[in-house]
Amino acid sequence: MPNLSNDLNSIINKRLNNLSASKIREFDQKVSGIPGIIKLTIGEPDLATPEHVKQAAIADIQADDSHYAPQAGKPELLDAISNYLDRSIGVHYDPKSEICVTVGATGALNDVFMTLLNPGDKILVPTPVWALYFQLIKMTGAIPVQIDTKKDGFILTPEHLRHVLEGRGKGAKAIILTDPSNPTGRVYPAETLKALAEVIKEYKIFSVTDEIYAELVYGNAEHHSLSEYISDHNILISGLSKAYAMTGWRLGYIAGPKQIMQNIRKINAFLVTSVTDNVQMAAVEALNNGQNDPLQSRKIYESRLQFMQTSLEKLGFEMATPQGAFYIFAKIPEKYGTDDETFAYELAQKAKVGVTPGRYFGKGGEGYVRLSYASSTEQLRESLRRITDFVNNL
Ligand code: PMP
Repeated sequence: MPNLSNDLNSIINKRLNNLSASKIREFDQKVSGIPGIIKLTIGEPDLATPEHVKQAAIADIQADDSHYAPQAGKPELLDAISNYLDRSIGVHYDPKSEICVTVGATGALNDVFMTLLNPGDKILVPTPVWALYFQLIKMTGAIPVQIDTKKDGFILTPEHLRHVLEGRGKGAKAIILTDPSNPTGRVYPAETLKALAEVIKEYKIFSVTDEIYAELVYGNAEHHSLSEYISDHNILISGLSKAYAMTGWRLGYIAGPKQIMQNIRKINAFLVTSVTDNVQMAAVEALNNGQNDPLQSRKIYESRLQFMQTSLEKLGFEMATPQGAFYIFAKIPEKYGTDDETFAYELAQKAKVGVTPGRYFGKGGEGYVRLSYASSTEQLRESLRRITDFVNNL
């Protein structure tokens, strides 16, 4: 009898077969089974979708808006996204030709990578980074070239970019930048983006910016986009998942130069036809009438960040000042051990607090752990009590 399971494996696309499932999710699943654990592992807002946004979706369902939407997005939503980008970064994108609505920012990333990348193409990925990029890039057959940014406080400098483009990254087609960053919470200052834009132009590469956390910046930090400096060279990705606590709605978008967007719209239509009608109408409501919603989330996250940062620093954890998103990327003090995976497993088992090992986010993450503060303040306080007890007993 043929060995069926082997035979079935052999029919799987080789690229997919060679990719492992997300280590972050795998780790999360392992620690989820520990009774009483508080998980600071997942990047998911604990807040609820704003009421007026939910009502807009309900009204849309009641109105029987339940047919195929235009493939690049409903005109109302394309207008709302265009107006939002005008307001927030001062860059105008033509709603009719330069924007595409996608299934979450993940769908946007997939569209962009499939549009740009041929097998063997290099794309630069500053790390530590949200690790799904690696899997999506590898599915196209392209090669992610990691740039470890630890030495510069997890910010890619123009000098470092130039150095890589002259060496390992020679001939790269593009770079992807996450700003604000998951996992480090770092935010690129305007002057750094401006200088990076110069290098990107000089080397004639393309940039892709993942700005899904754009509204979630704290203290003096301000969000800027590479599109402000090189809109003809940049593809901007964002969505409503984080700032409006809408992860489950799956609504993202892409804005970029017309010629590229024509192709992005084509692949998006091939892959998903169109995004769910009522989700698009909820997004119109959020962007047009919910400008205060992200501000409220921001206040909540900012006070949690202050509490977490102060408490962790007291325990000896060091970090490059987090200014955005909802993560802290903390260096494990050497006296507590240097292996992030061991530290995270023991913390989960003994103290019942789940944090993510830094190495799962690519080069530069070893010896660090990521804590998400998208959890209730009570849970964060309790987790800090547990972490304190744990490290005091080491
Ligand atoms: N980009 C980054 C940097 C993220 O952290 C996440 C979610 N963890 C996403 C994209 C995915 O966003 P969405 O849920 O809209 O697909």
